[in-house]
Amino acid sequence: MRALTFHGTQDVRVDTHPDPQIINPRDAIIQVSSTAICGSDLHLYDGVIPAVMKGDILGHEFMGRVVEAGPHSTLKKGQRVVVPFTIACGSCFFCSEQQYSACDNSNPVDKREMSETLYGTPMSGLFGYSHLTGGYAGGQAEYVRVPYSDVGPIVIEDDGLDDDKVLFLSDILPTGWMAAENAEIGSGDTVAVWGAGPVGLFAAQSALILGASRVIVIDHYPNRLRLAKGLGCDVVNFRETDVREALMEMTGGIGPDAVIDAVGMEAHGFSADNMLDIAKQKVGVGADRASALKQAILAVRKGGRVSIPGVYGGMTDKFPLGALMEKGLTVRTGQTHVQKYSHKLLDMIADGTIDTTFLISHRLPLEQAAEGYRNFKTKQDEFTKVVLKPGM
Ligand code: NAD
Ligand code: ZN
Repeated sequence: MRALTFHGTQDVRVDTHPDPQIINPRDAIIQVSSTAICGSDLHLYDGVIPAVMKGDILGHEFMGRVVEAGPHSTLKKGQRVVVPFTIACGSCFFCSEQQYSACDNSNPVDKREMSETLYGTPMSGLFGYSHLTGGYAGGQAEYVRVPYSDVGPIVIEDDGLDDDKVLFLSDILPTGWMAAENAEIGSGDTVAVWGAGPVGLFAAQSALILGASRVIVIDHYPNRLRLAKGLGCDVVNFRETDVREALMEMTGGIGPDAVIDAVGMEAHGFSADNMLDIAKQKVGVGADRASALKQAILAVRKGGRVSIPGVYGGMTDKFPLGALMEKGLTVRTGQTHVQKYSHKLLDMIADGTIDTTFLISHRLPLEQAAEGYRNFKTKQDEFTKVVLKPGM
């Protein structure tokens, strides 16, 4: 089969690989019809996640048809499914608490040491996201093996719901939803969202559905900010305006009730090569890589909520802990518990409450995946979301 493969920093290529096989009775094999490139993939592409190896197949946002199901899978050949990016066994302590992204069984024991050193806890299994998270082959491919296929995949019965409408159930839609839920939005709240990327836009959309009366989205890309306006948000361009001043002015000097950091890390002073050393020495670097987060913590009102869907790796320095304490803030973060939200969000797509299709700027054949990565990285304003179509 053909698959998008990591070759080195900012070097990905479509190569030929052996077709995946059923290894475990709970596995299924999916023929991928649509698979998207995520902001999280850019962390791999930029070489800031250790333990991604030459030859690894990337991709964690995908859907398609079941072509083979193991004897303990609940899926049937021919079913159309969206697959959550978080791999979860469904029966450990964390899965039973619906904390699927913290599953205790999805990362093999021999793969846990490095993430334990880096994060102080072993990571759980993710598709196409390095050997820190299990080394699973990703879905930017013609076919993919889905472990625990009786737990994760959501079956799309209605063929009228085309891929563009449901693909983002795999990650960014539930991620935006959980970010808004973590911000504990009450009716009438003012919420500020840093980042008008896919995650920030879906978080803003979710915040409005959850009852926020005002959502303010911060970015510097005019087209992305235009999409935020289209959702009914106010916008602030951080290149043109002092963000803190603007937010204070918009909230009568109090600050937003809740803030969402949908930006995540940017590489300043660390890379996949030195990240582990930095963690082992317990020394932080890159004070300003958490600039959006720091700004969010300083802007939110006293007693407010800070929700962080943005991804961070290793140790972050100069985190404004004093402000957190003095302002009495609540902070919630985490990889998304996708499976917890799948059915509820699918219902909201089906009844028209949520439309995700506005986000897709480009649909490309899998063979053009490298170009998709390059443009999603360097022309972010125009390339809001790239969907790869292996059958195109
Ligand atoms: P993206 O790269 O497309 O978007 C990020 C946006 O942030 C860009 O538009 C950029 O211009 C903007 N930005 C950069 N610096 C900023 C600043 N200082 N202030 C305001 N905006 C700023 O990425 P995405 O796909 O939207 O993902 C966003 C983050 O969410 C990433 O860190 C990604 O890894 C993470 N993510 C987390 C989960 C999860 O489970 N928690 C899931 C998916 C993605
Ligand atoms: Zn993603």
